[in-house]
Amino acid sequence: MVIPTKPHATLLASPGLGHLIPMVELANRLTAHHNFHVTIFVVTMEPGPNKPNLLPNQPNTLKPLYDLVVLPYVDSSAHMGPSDKIMTRLVIMMRGYVSSLRSELGSMEQNPTLLVVDLFGTEFLTLADEFNMIKYVYIPSNAWFLAQTVCVPLLDKQVKHEGPLIIPGCKRVEYDDILDPVFDPENKDYDEYVRIALDIGTADGVLVNTWEDLEPTTLFSFKNNKVLKEIFNKPVYPVGPLVRPVRPECLGEELSEWLNKQPKESVLYVSFGSGGTLSSQQTIELALGLEISQQRFIWVVRPPIEHDGAGALFHAMDGQDHMISQYLPPGFMTRTRNLGKVIPMWAPQMEILAHPSVGGFLSHCGWNSTLESLVNGVPIIAWPLYAEQNMNAALMDEEVGVAVRPKVLPTKVIVGREEIKKLINKIMVDDEGIKIRERVKEVQGYAKRALTTEGSTY
Ligand code: UDP
Repeated sequence: MVIPTKPHATLLASPGLGHLIPMVELANRLTAHHNFHVTIFVVTMEPGPNKPNLLPNQPNTLKPLYDLVVLPYVDSSAHMGPSDKIMTRLVIMMRGYVSSLRSELGSMEQNPTLLVVDLFGTEFLTLADEFNMIKYVYIPSNAWFLAQTVCVPLLDKQVKHEGPLIIPGCKRVEYDDILDPVFDPENKDYDEYVRIALDIGTADGVLVNTWEDLEPTTLFSFKNNKVLKEIFNKPVYPVGPLVRPVRPECLGEELSEWLNKQPKESVLYVSFGSGGTLSSQQTIELALGLEISQQRFIWVVRPPIEHDGAGALFHAMDGQDHMISQYLPPGFMTRTRNLGKVIPMWAPQMEILAHPSVGGFLSHCGWNSTLESLVNGVPIIAWPLYAEQNMNAALMDEEVGVAVRPKVLPTKVIVGREEIKKLINKIMVDDEGIKIRERVKEVQGYAKRALTTEGSTY
């Protein structure tokens, strides 16, 4: 019999880089700081070998600190309907892998100590019971989002939700910022969201990618607010900010040289995460807004998709790099040649944000992107598109004070070039921007402190 020298944590990541990246960083933290042996199980959305660049956190020459097991692809498309939305689709995909994870766990010489799943893997928690493991849910988002989630089962399905969402002891969620499924009890996403919320309550505790100084009120309420504790009484641990380390060599020579030549904090980085897409008209307006602002920029451009802000999540976009300029206004690339850089599809985001020439981030406010902005002290123009991004944007704007937002949600209207120019100037030039910049530097300091041995994460 092998005597274990370390506790063994098994982590299960649902599809999408936004879920995998924070899980990998949790693994790194558990191995490097807490002497765990970690196995990450990864679920893929497509058949074929897992691309090694899915895990961009480690220099390729270094042996990863954890074991990685890619579960063989399971095709769940027969269980999905054409009207199924993101949450339902992700959950259905995950469901297909329960038996593979069971056999993986069953084939281990000893039961692992701990199972950690993310929001879309809560159905796997019962496996922890089968294998006598302790079980945690890791929310790769903020505590306020967790608070909204655990309160959703209390909403009456019969009553259409029409006002702000009141969460005991926490900032209320304004109507516009509430997660979509809450509005549509007829939709399968609603049932899945409620089930997920109830599943979270069966875990031994919840890890959240946040820290005490970022969300003091919400974290305090999870511990101390009587009403919230009646709704949800499991321990909530802030373990963030868990973000990828910077690897300057990922910038590449050309981008690195260009950035080195720009003045300090003069470049706006524009990107909508791994899944975000804009409509063709919005792409044009954004291009023209960047151009008339006359601020330097790096823009990660994807082919437009109409009526689906999460377009890149489910549409294959490979091989379209060379077509990008056809979606931009005629002459844009030439006119902005000396002002900015257009990068098709995917950029080394963490490295760009860490560069001293970068002074603003126009972001969809996925939680990883938001954290990456904060740890690099970069103010945000919030442009939320789907999932809990409206909440993240509201939190950064109203609560943390490091972001500005368009007047109306970008998913409801086309944000015009003049408004875009104003938002860019607010962050990059105006006095208001200077204050926001000071504030984000302060938050950056708190973020660093959270990760020290005295910090809330440790
Ligand atoms: N990302 C990147 N380059 C890109 C787009 C995204 O490196 O061009 C990374 C980004 O740094 C972040 C992750 O992909 O770590 C996206 O996660 P996030 O939670 O921000 O958004 P999601 O993709 O889940 O909507």
